[in-house]
Amino acid sequence: MHMTTEATTTSISATSETKSRVPITVTYGDGIGPEIMRAVLFILEKGGARIDVEVVEVGEKVYLLGNTSGIPQEAWESIYRTRVLLKAPITTPQGAGYKSLNVTMRKTLGLFANVRPCVNYAPFVPSKHPQMDIVIIRENEEDLYAGIEHRQTDEVVQCLKLVSRPGTEKIIRYAFEYARAHGRRKVTCMTKDNIMKMTDGLFHRLFREIGQAYPDIEREHYIIDIGSARLADTPERFDVIVTLNLYGDIISDIAAQVSGSVGLAGSANVGSEFAMFEAIHGSAPDIAGKGIANPSGLLMGAMQMLAHIGQGDVAEVIHNAWLRTIEDGFHTPDIYNESYSKISVGTQGFAQAVVDRLGERPRYLRPVTYAKTNRRIHVHLTPTAPTNKQLVGVDVFLHWTDRNAEALGERLKKHTQGQLSLQMITNRGVKVWPQGHPATFCTDHWRCRFQTPSYTPISYQEVLLLLNQLYTAGFEIIKTENLYTFDGEPGFSLGQGQ
Ligand code: NAD
Repeated sequence: MHMTTEATTTSISATSETKSRVPITVTYGDGIGPEIMRAVLFILEKGGARIDVEVVEVGEKVYLLGNTSGIPQEAWESIYRTRVLLKAPITTPQGAGYKSLNVTMRKTLGLFANVRPCVNYAPFVPSKHPQMDIVIIRENEEDLYAGIEHRQTDEVVQCLKLVSRPGTEKIIRYAFEYARAHGRRKVTCMTKDNIMKMTDGLFHRLFREIGQAYPDIEREHYIIDIGSARLADTPERFDVIVTLNLYGDIISDIAAQVSGSVGLAGSANVGSEFAMFEAIHGSAPDIAGKGIANPSGLLMGAMQMLAHIGQGDVAEVIHNAWLRTIEDGFHTPDIYNESYSKISVGTQGFAQAVVDRLGERPRYLRPVTYAKTNRRIHVHLTPTAPTNKQLVGVDVFLHWTDRNAEALGERLKKHTQGQLSLQMITNRGVKVWPQGHPATFCTDHWRCRFQTPSYTPISYQEVLLLLNQLYTAGFEIIKTENLYTFDGEPGFSLGQGQ
């Protein structure tokens, strides 16, 4: 392993020089980051990782210098060179204005898949679910995490949920390819398509369609609420889970927690060109500098990195030595237990115990095997077929403070004429005109649907005409959404109760 910092270049001998070396970018992070990164790089070096390390600074210090992304130009340059980042946890300073470094990395580098294996190591690490061995594959770029939020009226704020066909196709294909490459038998999709029929519906539909190309892999779908309940209760029923961004964020923490090993889990953020590997935990400022942090989560992230760069042979040796260390009861304080721990070790002591076991395999826990060749997963997208898209109406959103839906309906009808006529008004998605229910509570945010009869196509000129009439009549338009049909099928949802 070779290490390069901005200031110095250090060469460390590698145990295997037979295959080509791979440059990687490393960030030491904040809090416990530097301690656990030193321990992990020590294990990688002794385990024979064929890597050349470029160290860059990101995180708290960079934020506090006034860079609101926490990532300086030199770091981007290194990542663009190496395309692989091993990242220790960082501290996001409190206060507005600091952007999440993780979200910036994921989106900027197109890291569309977040892969989180959640494994239990019972009885050595106690857990209520000793059979658990699952991988959560979370879509990483879309959904409510697009971060497009607006305050539109005095009473209402909104967040846009964006789900794209290529984004969904990428993650679903990735999940099936991952299952195949890792000898997994089942992929479970989790969505909320009973409510979000278009966005989550697209995700579920593509799961069904794409899944047909993988007859060797069992497929199932759960609505996310019952799916996460089952995950917390009987995680052993799952194998690979693929889901949208927000659900994946939540259930990957549930899974890590019930596996009993939040501090032991690593995570990969993978795109078609770049990848970032890390622990799932944070920078643990409460124990920083004490030399007691567990380096295992970051080490497991580094194992995913070795597999990604085609060094599964090295990962297998290190991972099995690590399992043996856990079995032998060399435990850091976070996992120390009376029954199975033999010696309480610090960060560096733990790393040394792993190094001492290189070449050994676990006796009770299942040994791991990694592909000997580069099994990096590539997904190929099918081009989106063009459709016949026709404009057939518009939803006009109004800020209107009188809570009387009937009066609003009558006034809108009075002030609008043309090819577009008022079909319905909803308030927070519930139909309140015509024939609303008096019990429905209304805010100051109204969606007024204007549509042509029988989806007759119109030009945008008609929409402009309508908006002009509304503006002239004194309505406050806060936004519009065009209504289209695609090959004759409506591309919009009905109002609740319509
Ligand atoms: P945390 O994960 O840092 O700590 C939670 C608890 O777990 C603490 O008691 C800590 O001591 C313990 N812990 C965590 N990792 C451990 C390890 N390796 N060994 C032993 N014990 C460990 O979560 P937090 O306290 O909510 O967040 C602290 C900081 O980390 C915040 O600034 C947060 O923004 C940041 N954070 C960063 C990342 C990341 O960089 N990927 C992820 C989560 C949180």
